[in-house]
Amino acid sequence: GAMRHLPYFCRGEVVKGFGRGSKELGIPTANFSEQVVESFPPDISTGIYYGWACVGNGDVHKMVLSIGWNPFYKNIKKSVETHIIHTFKEDFYGEILSIVITGYIRPEKNFDSLDALISAIQEDIEEAKRQLDLPEHLKLKEDNFFHLPEGKTVKNH
Ligand code: ADP
Ligand code: MG
Repeated sequence: GAMRHLPYFCRGEVVKGFGRGSKELGIPTANFSEQVVESFPPDISTGIYYGWACVGNGDVHKMVLSIGWNPFYKNIKKSVETHIIHTFKEDFYGEILSIVITGYIRPEKNFDSLDALISAIQEDIEEAKRQLDLPEHLKLKEDNFFHLPEGKTVKNH
């Protein structure tokens, strides 16, 4: 379920999500389109993962990622949302997000309160930061996957 597909490389456009207010909680999540989600291994576990992410041909940053059930499709399809551990000056809807998922943190959970949810996510972020500094995860930051093909033009560059 969770580990045997890792590391998992994925690239796709950032689309509008469900407007669940992630940004208002201080943890915006860049959503992949339905087609990108459909390309994931069907047996990959839902839950919280970590890895590396890059917008367009920008810098590679640490990220936490949730694979969850998509409420738009009555929870029969998955959604994949990436929170990049970096402060961006602007939103990047429509841009190409490249990620490599390197590790798994925990399954999906329900929380009794918004505070409990936020502190769980903050713990996930701290765990991701620690794990990604370990050599086996750090090496994927430099992977050729993050270098876009020559001659490809990218917004803002
Ligand atoms: P939506 O429901 O449309 O996904 P969110 O509240 O989850 O809205 O915000 C996600 C959007 O915020 C992303 O699509 C991206 O354009 C922007 N964004 C800004 N900073 C980040 C970040 N650090 N990580 C992820 N997305 C970010
Ligand atoms: Mg989102």
